[in-house]
Amino acid sequence: MLTPPLEALIRRMPKVELHLHLEGTITPHTFLELARRNGVTLPATDEAGIAALFRYRDFGEFLDIFMSLVRAIVSGEDFERLAYELGLDLAAQTVRYAEVMISPMQYLNRSLDLREVIEGTLAGFARAEREVGIVLRLALDYGRQYGPDQAWAVLDVARQIPFGVVGWSIGGNEIGYPPEPFAPVFAAAREAGLGLMAHAGEVVGPASVWGAIDTLGVSRLGHGIRAADDPVLMVALRERGIVLDVCPSSNLLTGAVATWPEHPLRRLHEAGVLVTINTDDPTFFATTLNEEYRRSLLRLGLSIDDLCAAVCTAARSAFLPPAEKATLVERITTEITALRAELGV
Ligand SMILES: [Zn+2]
Repeated sequence: MLTPPLEALIRRMPKVELHLHLEGTITPHTFLELARRNGVTLPATDEAGIAALFRYRDFGEFLDIFMSLVRAIVSGEDFERLAYELGLDLAAQTVRYAEVMISPMQYLNRSLDLREVIEGTLAGFARAEREVGIVLRLALDYGRQYGPDQAWAVLDVARQIPFGVVGWSIGGNEIGYPPEPFAPVFAAAREAGLGLMAHAGEVVGPASVWGAIDTLGVSRLGHGIRAADDPVLMVALRERGIVLDVCPSSNLLTGAVATWPEHPLRRLHEAGVLVTINTDDPTFFATTLNEEYRRSLLRLGLSIDDLCAAVCTAARSAFLPPAEKATLVERITTEITALRAELGV
């Protein structure tokens, strides 16, 4: 039961979002507008038609729809607008810091200039920061189905950007594309000063998570929920302090988890695995970060203390330089303490 003080706490609590794809934040309205302007044909021609696409039989179908819609985004200017609008939306949900992914192969395959894409996105982030104070940083999420060879060119572009790109990740189709072949490019990304993350244990079981933590050396996992199938793996995650960026509604809607009661978030948390709460692709999963917090409380059985701990874990595991991270952690903990005292929860 969500009492008014609890609802107020969720709405006003300072938050950190670590698992968010920029392309997954675009509203149907903006998809149509960009498609019209850029002369791109989408699989639907009105907002209701676009919204109707957001029903998936499985993860593969979600990925197909995602790929077909992102073709509407073309220029650096488009990215600047999307990144700026996202910053305003997150700031309105009292998000203080967000790490946002883009999927670079989408753009390289369409011969877009990846540097322009990244610089446009960072310009949108900077404008949002100037206007509403939210801090946004970028992570590159390489589609594993493209294989490791092409990842080097993407990493090269990231290395040339002096500020704002903080993370390196693999995502896309986990089935048939295990993490191990990406080990050399992850080592180089680490060398370049990027934080390491991998989508793993979302639709493939514990083997994928073991590969990501043992051979890629990641400090965070996108989803990682299937680790709950392997007690030894849960102990390893806890002992190594590896953080799971969990996205509850995404897991339900892609079919990674069949029903809310089966979602392992609480089980992972109770086993001592560090977890954060995120949206993944809020438009595609019809959610918001506030809504993910409500659902974690009401449907997944987390307590208010657990939600506050998840925010603090997110701040501590951000891919920021140590001094900036310390400031963020301090700000989050002070604000949460003051807010809880004010609301009496
Ligand atoms: Zn993701």
